Amino acid sequence: MEIIHISAECYPMAKVGGLADVVGTLPRYQQELGHYVKVVVPMHRTKFLYDHEWVVDHKGSFGMGPFQYEYTIIKEKHNTLGFDLYCVDIFGLLDREKVYTYEDDTERFTAFQIAVVDWLSNWQHRPDVVHVHDHHTALIPFMMQHCFAYRQLASIPTVLTIHNAQYQGWMGWDKSHYLPAWDSWQWGKLDWNDTINPLASGIKCASKVSTVSPSYMEELTSTANGLEKLFEYERGKCSGILNGIDTTVWNALTDTYILDNFSEADVDAGKQLNKKKLCQDFGLDINKPLFIFIGRLVAEKAADLLPLAIGDALYHMNNKMNFLILGSGDPDLEKQLAAMNQHYVGYYNSQIGYNEKLAHQMYAGADFILMPSRVEPCGLNQMYAMRYGTVPVVRSTGGLKDTVIDFGEPGGFGIRFNSASVWDITYSIHRGVDLYHDKETLAAVRQRMMQVDNSWQSSAGKYINLYQSI
Ligand code: ADP
Repeated sequence: MEIIHISAECYPMAKVGGLADVVGTLPRYQQELGHYVKVVVPMHRTKFLYDHEWVVDHKGSFGMGPFQYEYTIIKEKHNTLGFDLYCVDIFGLLDREKVYTYEDDTERFTAFQIAVVDWLSNWQHRPDVVHVHDHHTALIPFMMQHCFAYRQLASIPTVLTIHNAQYQGWMGWDKSHYLPAWDSWQWGKLDWNDTINPLASGIKCASKVSTVSPSYMEELTSTANGLEKLFEYERGKCSGILNGIDTTVWNALTDTYILDNFSEADVDAGKQLNKKKLCQDFGLDINKPLFIFIGRLVAEKAADLLPLAIGDALYHMNNKMNFLILGSGDPDLEKQLAAMNQHYVGYYNSQIGYNEKLAHQMYAGADFILMPSRVEPCGLNQMYAMRYGTVPVVRSTGGLKDTVIDFGEPGGFGIRFNSASVWDITYSIHRGVDLYHDKETLAAVRQRMMQVDNSWQSSAGKYINLYQSI
């Protein structure tokens, strides 16, 4: 099959979160299964762009409302990622450093989608499946079916994967003229609650919809930021396929970012050396259990509960543990977490910002990773942590529920709790501290988690089955 993935992010070209990891890895596994895979992303001005060689593949133009845009499609020359990577450039819209958070994101991603569909309509042949990811590309199935200029694409099967249903790309009806001339009888396929809702449109128009874990799929019929009824109605074409991880990148034995490589055989000693370096760098005590948090500092991740939970745990357990935080997001929370560095010297530290290398060092050197998420479609951090023998402490939700078994259960290796509350987090930290001092159980838990296979092997095949079903 010829499969074309369209996404806002793709690691290592451009990454904000888990979406990039998935779009940077799944295609490689699909290619290895014998399919021909292309990935298309906006031409973000990132280091990867400047460090690689590109060739121009296509040039074209399109209208968006009153504006006329020219676009260029370039292709990475040496197939470095193991699949064909294409970037779309639109002068004035996509020539930016960051992936999101610009005021004109609606215009930027609408234009990106029109350019991709326009390019596809110029092909001499048809791909077997067009696979779009999240709301930034979710208008593509509608455009392929209902924009007059692109109707020759209408019969190509489409798949929408939802990595996060919280963000839906809402745009007012006053922007409906941005879309290339479309069949106005079909307005209902764009609308949800009186606005154009690209994610809802993708759910209505795609041939199949998938989410990144089975439990998240179940949860969406009761909590989906306003789309619950739509998920209930479209249930028949929706399924959950658990994300895998790139086990070549996330491998304690070969990871070049970490100080000391280790395997299951020497995990205790290996972790100790990495922990020593981490604790030295951040002024923490190597003899105490180290709890980390890595991720976006947003309500979805329940990052707002961290200051209270950490304060509570240190106070009630007499500073028996250390904390290290890496993340960026809500500016007030960033300030609060940074200010705590002065308050809890020797027990707590934080680094605000994005740091891939430090993230690897933290997975390797920490004892526990905290993931109290209110919403977690799949979550990759817990799977990465497990590869490094770091115990995941997670709320039972979405993909966390599907990938972590509490160490109190047969075959378990993590700590699970039910509610995103300060009390549940502190109680789980308490359980972690006890586990840390029970060296025999901790060693068994580490062995078990490092043997879990979360690679893409089986999930990549499930996507192929999904394509074949359409
Ligand atoms: P989400 O996509 O919702 O942010 P995931 O758990 O699916 O969450 O993926 C998060 C990815 O981003 C992981 O690879 C994690 O290590 C990485 N990450 C998040 N924040 C940071 C940061 N501040 N520094 C380095 N890596 C980060």
